[in-house]
Amino acid sequence: MRRVLILGGTAEARALAAELSGELSGELSGGGVHVVSSLAGRVSNPRLPVGEVREGGFGGADGLAAWLAAERIDALVDATHPFAARMTASAAEAAARTGVPLLVLRRPGWREGPGDTWRRVPSLHAAAAQLDGPVRVFLTTGRRSLPVFTGLAGVWLLARSVDPPEPPVPDNVHVVLDRGPYTVEGERALIREHRLDVLVTKDSGGPMTTAKLVAARELGLPVIMVDRPPLPGGIRLVETVAEAAAWAQG
Ligand code: NAP
Repeated sequence: MRRVLILGGTAEARALAAELSGELSGELSGGGVHVVSSLAGRVSNPRLPVGEVREGGFGGADGLAAWLAAERIDALVDATHPFAARMTASAAEAAARTGVPLLVLRRPGWREGPGDTWRRVPSLHAAAAQLDGPVRVFLTTGRRSLPVFTGLAGVWLLARSVDPPEPPVPDNVHVVLDRGPYTVEGERALIREHRLDVLVTKDSGGPMTTAKLVAARELGLPVIMVDRPPLPGGIRLVETVAEAAAWAQG
Protein backbone atom coordinates (compact mmCIF):
# COMPACT_ATOMS: atom_id res chain seq x y z
CA MET A 1 0.00 0.00 0.00
CA ARG A 2 1.24 3.50 -0.86
CA ARG A 3 2.45 5.30 2.24
CA VAL A 4 1.97 9.06 2.46
CA LEU A 5 3.27 11.38 5.18
CA ILE A 6 1.34 14.62 5.69
CA LEU A 7 3.12 17.34 7.64
CA GLY A 8 0.13 18.95 9.30
CA GLY A 9 -1.14 21.42 11.83
CA THR A 10 -3.67 23.04 9.49
CA ALA A 11 -7.30 22.55 8.43
CA GLU A 12 -6.06 21.66 4.93
CA ALA A 13 -3.85 18.88 6.32
CA ARG A 14 -6.83 17.43 8.21
CA ALA A 15 -9.02 17.63 5.10
CA LEU A 16 -6.33 15.92 3.05
CA ALA A 17 -5.98 13.10 5.60
CA ALA A 18 -9.76 12.64 5.53
CA GLU A 19 -9.85 12.67 1.73
CA LEU A 20 -7.04 10.14 1.37
CA SER A 21 -8.50 7.88 4.05
CA GLY A 22 -11.78 7.72 2.14
CA GLU A 23 -13.62 9.56 4.94
CA LEU A 24 -15.19 12.06 2.56
CA SER A 25 -16.06 9.77 -0.34
CA GLY A 26 -17.07 6.87 1.90
CA GLU A 27 -14.69 4.55 0.09
CA LEU A 28 -10.99 3.95 0.09
CA SER A 29 -9.19 6.06 -2.47
CA GLY A 30 -7.53 4.63 -5.61
CA GLY A 31 -5.56 1.53 -4.76
CA GLY A 32 -5.50 2.34 -1.05
CA VAL A 33 -3.31 4.93 0.61
CA HIS A 34 -1.95 4.63 4.11
CA VAL A 35 -1.75 8.11 5.60
CA VAL A 36 0.39 9.20 8.52
CA SER A 37 -0.18 12.76 9.76
CA SER A 38 2.56 14.52 11.66
CA LEU A 39 1.99 17.29 14.21
CA ALA A 40 4.60 19.41 15.92
CA GLY A 41 3.05 18.75 19.33
CA ARG A 42 3.05 22.43 20.32
CA VAL A 43 -0.65 23.02 20.98
CA SER A 44 -1.99 21.51 24.20
CA ASN A 45 -5.24 20.24 22.70
CA PRO A 46 -4.76 19.96 18.91
CA ARG A 47 -7.54 19.18 16.47
CA LEU A 48 -6.57 15.70 15.32
CA PRO A 49 -6.82 14.40 11.76
CA VAL A 50 -8.35 10.99 11.06
CA GLY A 51 -6.01 8.04 10.75
CA GLU A 52 -2.52 7.49 12.12
CA VAL A 53 -0.95 10.47 13.88
CA ARG A 54 2.58 11.02 15.15
CA GLU A 55 3.61 14.04 17.24
CA GLY A 56 6.83 15.96 17.83
CA GLY A 57 9.77 17.18 15.76
CA PHE A 58 11.88 14.81 13.66
CA GLY A 59 15.21 16.38 14.60
CA GLY A 60 15.79 18.57 11.55
CA ALA A 61 16.26 17.47 7.94
CA ASP A 62 18.53 14.59 8.99
CA GLY A 63 15.93 13.20 11.36
CA LEU A 64 13.13 13.55 8.82
CA ALA A 65 15.22 11.88 6.08
CA ALA A 66 15.91 8.94 8.40
CA TRP A 67 12.23 8.74 9.37
CA LEU A 68 11.08 8.73 5.71
CA ALA A 69 13.43 5.84 4.95
CA ALA A 70 12.58 3.85 8.09
CA GLU A 71 8.83 4.21 7.51
CA ARG A 72 9.14 3.51 3.75
CA ILE A 73 7.26 6.67 2.84
CA ASP A 74 6.40 6.95 -0.88
CA ALA A 75 5.20 10.56 -0.95
CA LEU A 76 5.49 13.57 1.34
CA VAL A 77 2.94 16.40 1.50
CA ASP A 78 3.95 19.51 3.41
CA ALA A 79 0.60 20.95 4.46
CA THR A 80 2.01 22.96 7.35
CA HIS A 81 1.04 26.54 8.08
CA PRO A 82 2.49 29.08 5.60
CA PHE A 83 4.63 30.50 8.42
CA ALA A 84 6.11 27.14 9.49
CA ALA A 85 9.26 27.93 7.49
CA ARG A 86 11.66 25.67 9.38
CA MET A 87 9.56 22.58 8.86
CA THR A 88 9.15 23.43 5.17
CA ALA A 89 12.91 23.91 4.75
CA SER A 90 13.55 20.55 6.47
CA ALA A 91 10.98 18.84 4.25
CA ALA A 92 12.61 20.21 1.09
CA GLU A 93 16.06 19.12 2.21
CA ALA A 94 14.98 15.66 3.38
CA ALA A 95 13.01 15.05 0.18
CA ALA A 96 15.96 16.07 -1.99
CA ARG A 97 18.27 13.81 -0.03
CA THR A 98 16.03 10.72 0.01
CA GLY A 99 14.36 11.11 -3.39
CA VAL A 100 10.90 10.97 -1.76
CA PRO A 101 8.61 13.16 -3.93
CA LEU A 102 7.46 16.32 -2.11
CA LEU A 103 4.41 18.47 -2.67
CA VAL A 104 3.64 21.65 -0.75
CA LEU A 105 -0.05 22.36 -0.10
CA ARG A 106 -0.58 26.04 0.78
CA ARG A 107 -3.88 27.86 0.88
CA PRO A 108 -3.75 31.14 -1.05
CA GLY A 109 -2.81 34.29 0.83
CA TRP A 110 -5.31 37.08 1.51
CA ARG A 111 -5.81 39.94 -0.93
CA GLU A 112 -6.54 43.54 -0.09
CA GLY A 113 -9.93 44.66 -1.42
CA PRO A 114 -11.91 47.91 -1.74
CA GLY A 115 -12.26 49.62 1.64
CA ASP A 116 -9.19 47.90 3.13
CA THR A 117 -6.22 49.88 4.45
CA TRP A 118 -3.40 47.38 4.59
CA ARG A 119 0.31 47.84 4.90
CA ARG A 120 2.33 44.78 3.91
CA VAL A 121 5.56 44.19 5.79
CA PRO A 122 8.18 41.46 5.35
CA SER A 123 8.56 40.35 8.97
CA LEU A 124 7.23 40.55 12.53
CA HIS A 125 10.02 43.00 13.42
CA ALA A 126 9.05 45.20 10.49
CA ALA A 127 5.45 45.11 11.75
CA ALA A 128 6.58 46.19 15.23
CA ALA A 129 8.57 49.05 13.68
CA GLN A 130 5.32 50.41 12.20
CA LEU A 131 3.72 50.88 15.61
CA ASP A 132 4.00 54.42 16.81
CA GLY A 133 2.46 54.88 20.28
CA PRO A 134 0.12 55.73 21.79
CA VAL A 135 -1.76 52.96 20.01
CA ARG A 136 -4.02 50.03 20.95
CA VAL A 137 -3.15 46.97 18.89
CA PHE A 138 -5.12 43.85 17.99
CA LEU A 139 -2.31 41.29 17.69
CA THR A 140 -3.02 37.88 16.12
CA THR A 141 0.46 36.77 15.10
CA GLY A 142 0.75 33.95 17.63
CA ARG A 143 1.86 33.69 21.24
CA ARG A 144 5.51 33.08 20.40
CA SER A 145 5.73 36.39 18.53
CA LEU A 146 4.59 38.39 21.57
CA PRO A 147 8.12 39.39 22.72
CA VAL A 148 8.64 41.19 19.40
CA PHE A 149 5.83 43.60 20.29
CA THR A 150 6.17 44.07 24.03
CA GLY A 151 8.35 46.89 25.34
CA LEU A 152 7.34 49.29 22.55
CA ALA A 153 6.68 52.75 24.01
CA GLY A 154 2.98 53.67 24.18
CA VAL A 155 1.81 50.39 22.68
CA TRP A 156 -1.05 48.48 24.34
CA LEU A 157 -1.69 44.98 23.02
CA LEU A 158 -4.70 42.72 22.85
CA ALA A 159 -2.95 39.45 22.02
CA ARG A 160 -5.14 36.58 20.91
CA SER A 161 -3.76 33.05 20.81
CA VAL A 162 -4.83 29.41 21.14
CA ASP A 163 -2.57 28.66 24.11
CA PRO A 164 -1.33 31.17 26.72
CA PRO A 165 1.95 32.99 26.05
CA GLU A 166 4.99 32.24 28.20
CA PRO A 167 4.86 34.19 31.49
CA PRO A 168 5.59 36.80 32.59
CA VAL A 169 3.06 38.70 30.50
CA PRO A 170 3.74 42.45 30.71
CA ASP A 171 1.09 44.85 32.08
CA ASN A 172 0.44 46.42 28.70
CA VAL A 173 -0.74 43.07 27.26
CA HIS A 174 -4.27 41.74 27.53
CA VAL A 175 -4.40 38.07 26.48
CA VAL A 176 -7.49 36.53 24.90
CA LEU A 177 -7.38 32.75 24.51
CA ASP A 178 -9.49 31.58 21.62
CA ARG A 179 -9.39 29.44 18.51
CA GLY A 180 -11.13 30.14 15.18
CA PRO A 181 -13.29 30.10 13.25
CA TYR A 182 -14.35 33.59 14.32
CA THR A 183 -17.41 35.64 13.37
CA VAL A 184 -17.48 39.20 12.04
CA GLU A 185 -19.87 40.17 14.86
CA GLY A 186 -17.48 38.78 17.46
CA GLU A 187 -14.46 40.53 15.94
CA ARG A 188 -16.37 43.82 15.65
CA ALA A 189 -17.37 43.59 19.31
CA LEU A 190 -13.79 42.85 20.39
CA ILE A 191 -12.41 45.80 18.42
CA ARG A 192 -15.04 48.16 19.85
CA GLU A 193 -14.87 46.90 23.42
CA HIS A 194 -11.11 47.34 23.62
CA ARG A 195 -11.02 50.50 21.45
CA LEU A 196 -8.43 48.95 19.15
CA ASP A 197 -6.69 51.21 16.62
CA VAL A 198 -4.83 48.78 14.37
CA LEU A 199 -4.76 45.07 13.52
CA VAL A 200 -1.42 43.28 13.20
CA THR A 201 -1.69 39.87 11.59
CA LYS A 202 0.14 37.36 9.42
CA ASP A 203 -0.96 36.51 5.89
CA SER A 204 -2.15 33.06 6.93
CA GLY A 205 -4.94 32.96 4.35
CA GLY A 206 -7.96 30.67 4.56
CA PRO A 207 -11.52 31.26 5.72
CA MET A 208 -11.17 30.41 9.45
CA THR A 209 -9.71 33.76 10.48
CA THR A 210 -10.86 36.24 7.81
CA ALA A 211 -13.59 37.72 10.03
CA LYS A 212 -11.09 40.10 11.67
CA LEU A 213 -10.21 41.51 8.24
CA VAL A 214 -13.87 42.11 7.41
CA ALA A 215 -14.46 43.75 10.80
CA ALA A 216 -11.35 45.91 10.35
CA ARG A 217 -12.59 47.05 6.94
CA GLU A 218 -16.06 47.87 8.28
CA LEU A 219 -14.67 49.84 11.22
CA GLY A 220 -11.96 51.60 9.19
CA LEU A 221 -9.13 49.94 11.11
CA PRO A 222 -5.75 49.85 9.36
CA VAL A 223 -4.10 46.43 9.04
CA ILE A 224 -0.41 45.62 9.20
CA MET A 225 -0.07 42.38 7.25
CA VAL A 226 3.08 40.31 7.67
CA ASP A 227 3.99 38.64 4.37
CA ARG A 228 4.65 34.91 4.17
CA PRO A 229 8.22 33.68 4.23
CA PRO A 230 9.35 32.55 0.76
CA LEU A 231 9.25 28.85 -0.15
CA PRO A 232 12.52 27.07 -0.89
CA GLY A 233 13.33 27.04 -4.63
CA GLY A 234 12.12 24.32 -7.01
CA ILE A 235 9.17 23.28 -4.87
CA ARG A 236 6.03 21.85 -6.42
CA LEU A 237 3.12 23.83 -4.98
CA VAL A 238 -0.67 23.41 -5.04
CA GLU A 239 -3.36 25.45 -3.34
CA THR A 240 -6.23 23.00 -2.95
CA VAL A 241 -6.80 19.77 -1.04
CA ALA A 242 -8.23 18.14 -4.19
CA GLU A 243 -5.03 18.76 -6.14
CA ALA A 244 -2.92 17.44 -3.27
CA ALA A 245 -5.12 14.34 -2.93
CA ALA A 246 -4.81 13.56 -6.64
CA TRP A 247 -1.01 13.94 -6.47
CA ALA A 248 -0.67 11.87 -3.29
CA GLN A 249 -2.59 8.96 -4.79
CA GLY A 250 0.17 8.71 -7.43
P1 NAP B 1 8.42 25.74 12.38
O1 NAP B 1 9.02 26.91 13.07
O2 NAP B 1 8.57 25.63 10.92
O3 NAP B 1 8.93 24.39 13.01
C1 NAP B 1 9.80 24.32 14.11
C2 NAP B 1 10.08 22.86 14.35
O4 NAP B 1 8.92 22.18 14.83
C3 NAP B 1 10.46 22.11 13.10
O5 NAP B 1 11.83 22.32 12.78
C4 NAP B 1 10.12 20.70 13.48
O6 NAP B 1 11.08 20.17 14.38
C5 NAP B 1 8.85 20.87 14.28
N1 NAP B 1 7.65 20.77 13.45
C6 NAP B 1 6.93 21.76 12.86
N2 NAP B 1 5.87 21.27 12.23
C7 NAP B 1 5.90 19.94 12.42
C8 NAP B 1 5.05 18.88 12.00
N3 NAP B 1 3.94 19.10 11.28
N4 NAP B 1 5.40 17.62 12.37
C9 NAP B 1 6.52 17.39 13.11
N5 NAP B 1 7.34 18.35 13.54
C10 NAP B 1 7.03 19.61 13.19
O7 NAP B 1 6.86 25.64 12.71
P2 NAP B 1 5.96 26.49 13.73
O8 NAP B 1 5.71 27.80 13.12
O9 NAP B 1 6.55 26.36 15.08
O10 NAP B 1 4.62 25.66 13.67
C11 NAP B 1 4.52 24.42 14.33
C12 NAP B 1 3.30 23.70 13.78
O11 NAP B 1 2.13 24.46 14.04
C13 NAP B 1 3.35 23.43 12.29
O12 NAP B 1 3.08 22.07 12.09
C14 NAP B 1 2.28 24.31 11.69
O13 NAP B 1 1.60 23.67 10.64
C15 NAP B 1 1.38 24.60 12.87
N6 NAP B 1 0.85 25.98 12.85
C16 NAP B 1 1.73 27.01 12.79
C17 NAP B 1 1.23 28.31 12.76
C18 NAP B 1 2.16 29.49 12.64
O14 NAP B 1 1.68 30.62 12.63
N7 NAP B 1 3.47 29.31 12.52
C19 NAP B 1 -0.14 28.53 12.82
C20 NAP B 1 -1.00 27.44 12.90
C21 NAP B 1 -0.48 26.17 12.91
P3 NAP B 1 12.30 19.27 13.90
O15 NAP B 1 13.26 20.21 13.26
O16 NAP B 1 12.80 18.67 15.17
O17 NAP B 1 11.77 18.26 12.94
